[in-house]
Amino acid sequence: MFRSSGPGLLSRRRFLTWSQAALAVLGASPAIPLFGASRATESVPAADDYYAKLGVEPIINAAGTYTYLTAAVMPPQVQRAVAQAALHPVVLKELHTAAGEYLAKRLRCDGALVTSGASAALTLATAACIADANHARPNQIPQQVWSGDGTLGMKNEVIVQKAHRYEYDHAMQLCGVRIVEVVTFDDYQRAFTPKTVMTNFFNSAEGGLIDRQAWLDVAHRHNVPCHLDAAADVPPVENLWRYTAMGFDLVCFSGGKGIRGPQNAGLLLGKKHLIDLAADNDSPNSDAVGRGMKVAKEQIVGMVAAVDWLLEQSDEANQAEYMRRAHVISEAVKDIPTLTSDIYIPEIANHVPHLILAYDPRIVGITPLEVQKRLSAQRPRIELNPATGTTGRLGPHSNENTIVVGAWMMQPGEAEIVGRSLHAVLSNPQA
Ligand SMILES: *Cc1c(COP(=O)(O)O)cnc(C)c1O
Repeated sequence: MFRSSGPGLLSRRRFLTWSQAALAVLGASPAIPLFGASRATESVPAADDYYAKLGVEPIINAAGTYTYLTAAVMPPQVQRAVAQAALHPVVLKELHTAAGEYLAKRLRCDGALVTSGASAALTLATAACIADANHARPNQIPQQVWSGDGTLGMKNEVIVQKAHRYEYDHAMQLCGVRIVEVVTFDDYQRAFTPKTVMTNFFNSAEGGLIDRQAWLDVAHRHNVPCHLDAAADVPPVENLWRYTAMGFDLVCFSGGKGIRGPQNAGLLLGKKHLIDLAADNDSPNSDAVGRGMKVAKEQIVGMVAAVDWLLEQSDEANQAEYMRRAHVISEAVKDIPTLTSDIYIPEIANHVPHLILAYDPRIVGITPLEVQKRLSAQRPRIELNPATGTTGRLGPHSNENTIVVGAWMMQPGEAEIVGRSLHAVLSNPQA
């Protein structure tokens, strides 16, 4: 069984929001309804199996919505919408515009653009802010923006908290911007210059000293638009309108993570005039920084269908199903010596149960990293969460003695397979 949660683990407030549903399934009821999350496996009628033809082994995803593991599987109604869209050509721009209007209504914002992912949304947000500040045409970005020595080009400064610097800075730098780093609130107030075009707030960053509201207030006093990166921050579904309602001018989401649309899709939501500028800098326009970020008709329709699917879902029911899977796995390995099970739910980003199995590898005879390798080499192939056997990726919640299982991307029946496989490896360390 799960140990009671320690500090920073399953937060009480969160637990209470879905405890009833979770308890219903944790009570080991045999009649588990299949929630939306698990219905994803029925698929459109089978075509040629190109994975088999290519010799690429499908995986059981016991990790989560990681890009390197192809993130989410689209639910059947989304798969069907994608297949249907593939049947007929349309005028791409018309589809973009109509999808944007539809999504803006459903997601309660001013404007929306389907992008080729959150990273592309961040590039297009940056291009939009540059265009807004400089009256720049798409064909001037980035070559008229970045002058090398920073003195000759257009307005090109983006303000970011030091704790919010991340690998996706690259997506902004593609447009020729210079990132201006701040730490304290005083730094932030002093950082605005006539060259400031935008700020970026990494929603799940930890350790920044300036909170969202203060960040918005100061930027808006300077008439500078704020972008928020919430790529991995669904669930909860209400995050899709929470941050635009707070006043963020632009917000991006990954389409293929918790929203469960196509992996090469994403959303840019926000102020209409900025969304229009983002679209100007996007495919199908050719002389534009976004030309390589094309979203095909299938992905645009898939993104819209995924949002429709998501808005029918119950976060509580889905979370309860993920808890049930975690419980199945922890029960399967409970007789392994020294092993304890716990659940960790990150507050923002991947806000779903992560099963943490901690044990003493000297007594059990195999380390979590070796277990991970064995599961990845066997058939069926199982991929554990990349925090397995490492420190840092999940804060204090994982280390060299923990196996981490992400339960939310498994398909029906797979939690049972993962539980049996983990037990087999942990109880036969020399096999
Ligand atoms: C995953 C992620 C991205 C990139 O999302 P894509 O849709 O794969 O482009 C950007 N920012 C953050 C914080 C992410 O987690």
